[in-house]
Amino acid sequence: MSDYRTPRILWGVLFGEKLSRICGIIFLMSFEKQQKKLRVGWFTFTCCEDSTVVFTEVLNDYWQEWVKLIDFRHARVLKTKNVLDDLDVAFVEGAISSEEQASKLREIRTKSKVLVAVGACAVTGMPSAQRNDFDKETMKEIGYIMDRFHHLDKVQSLSDVVNVDADLPGCPMNADDFVKVVNGALETFNIVEKK
Ligand code: SF4
Repeated sequence: MSDYRTPRILWGVLFGEKLSRICGIIFLMSFEKQQKKLRVGWFTFTCCEDSTVVFTEVLNDYWQEWVKLIDFRHARVLKTKNVLDDLDVAFVEGAISSEEQASKLREIRTKSKVLVAVGACAVTGMPSAQRNDFDKETMKEIGYIMDRFHHLDKVQSLSDVVNVDADLPGCPMNADDFVKVVNGALETFNIVEKK
């Protein structure tokens, strides 16, 4: 009896293994397809972070939809563990007021396919850049702050430092414009079908 059953068991095991391997590959492929997400980073430099507040307010309405489509690689307002690696879109808020910030911005630029300047500070440098026009006496008064935080002589907009692909002006940014940019990026990077 054992001579009769053994080949059947072996065949069954072998066939089962092969089948399960094929199913596994198909499952992994569909899983990968399902999991393709827009890789997004949100960064903040010198500013009051009001556009970050708008960003979180927008998420109140869009989180359920976007969480399936967007991988927030870097967004300190959302999580504590953040990584700066390859990004599809980097949203950058705030003006650049130190060499350290300029260097970080250059790194973000090299790792991002699209870089969007968010809010007036990032787009024009203002209102942060008002200090560029301070008189000598006022500059003297804030001298110790400039030294302490290693500030640049002049506050700069993002485009003074790197190439910027798109602007979201406003103080803070306009929520509807932000949603349009995100939804446009979802189409551009083939995360969702074009309408
Ligand atoms: S653009 Fe306006 S709201 Fe945005 S960070 Fe600058 S000052 Fe704040």
